[in-house]
Amino acid sequence: MESVNLTFLGTGNSIPTKLRNHTALFLRYRDEGILIDCGEGTQRQFSVAGLSHCKITRLLITHWHGDHILGIPGLLQTLSQLGYSKTLHIYGPTGTKRFFTLIEQLNIGFKIPLEIHEVSSGVFFETSDFALLSDPVEHGIPSNAYTFLLKDRLRLDKTKLKKLKIPSSPLLKELAQGKDVVIEGKKVLSKKVSFLEKGKKLSFVLDSLPGPSVATFVKRADLLVCEATYLSEDAEKAQEHKHLTASDAAHLAKSAKVKHLILTHVSPRYERDPQVLIREAKKIFKTTTLASDFDSLTIN
Ligand SMILES: [Zn+2]
Ligand SMILES: [Zn+2]
Repeated sequence: MESVNLTFLGTGNSIPTKLRNHTALFLRYRDEGILIDCGEGTQRQFSVAGLSHCKITRLLITHWHGDHILGIPGLLQTLSQLGYSKTLHIYGPTGTKRFFTLIEQLNIGFKIPLEIHEVSSGVFFETSDFALLSDPVEHGIPSNAYTFLLKDRLRLDKTKLKKLKIPSSPLLKELAQGKDVVIEGKKVLSKKVSFLEKGKKLSFVLDSLPGPSVATFVKRADLLVCEATYLSEDAEKAQEHKHLTASDAAHLAKSAKVKHLILTHVSPRYERDPQVLIREAKKIFKTTTLASDFDSLTIN
């Protein structure tokens, strides 16, 4: 399987700290570079992480709170200066088109083609091997959770091909598509020489209240990246600001039967000992880790 790489470019919340910048995640798969949120300073985080800004192909905006979007004008200006030559596809909840009109009015002189898509529920982009999905979440303003879904894929079993003495042929491509073929007079059944490689589901819930629809959306994800702004002792604040606690995130991971939970969007109040969030979450869902800026992981 082609690997998916995920880099945390910002894991803090509304006020950046020495250790944590505003929210941004960069997912790479083949030629795709999918940036999820773009808090202030994200373009510099790219440089620190040694990533190329021009690799961005799509920007997914969860919602229009400052800590998730204030890096957009600067990033667009930089892309323009770097000679970005693709069309940048931008996806976000209702209001995204209007907000981009305002950014364009800033007259900061970026000249890159943008395509803005307002998305709410379901698949909004798809290729033969992956899909991007969104689902609205409750956060006081239009907000989306996102999923990157790597599809199941039929793969040829090289050992079986060798065993059956099937020679190299352009028809192998058809076998890999599930079609039976005749190679050098010999009928070869696709199901005899192929196997189904399971895809991967990566879901991102950034800024949300808990709710049953969120659990449905992230159901059985291989990886759930989820905000955990507060501890449950601050549950009232979490409710007031429409955020999740570490324990909410863990309950979500447990009920959705995800494989791995990564907490992010950490409040500065836990800067001295962010492990308190992990300790709370792990009591409910063991396979939990806490993201730090510049953490990078490869999902095979
Ligand atoms: Zn936020
Ligand atoms: Zn927010």
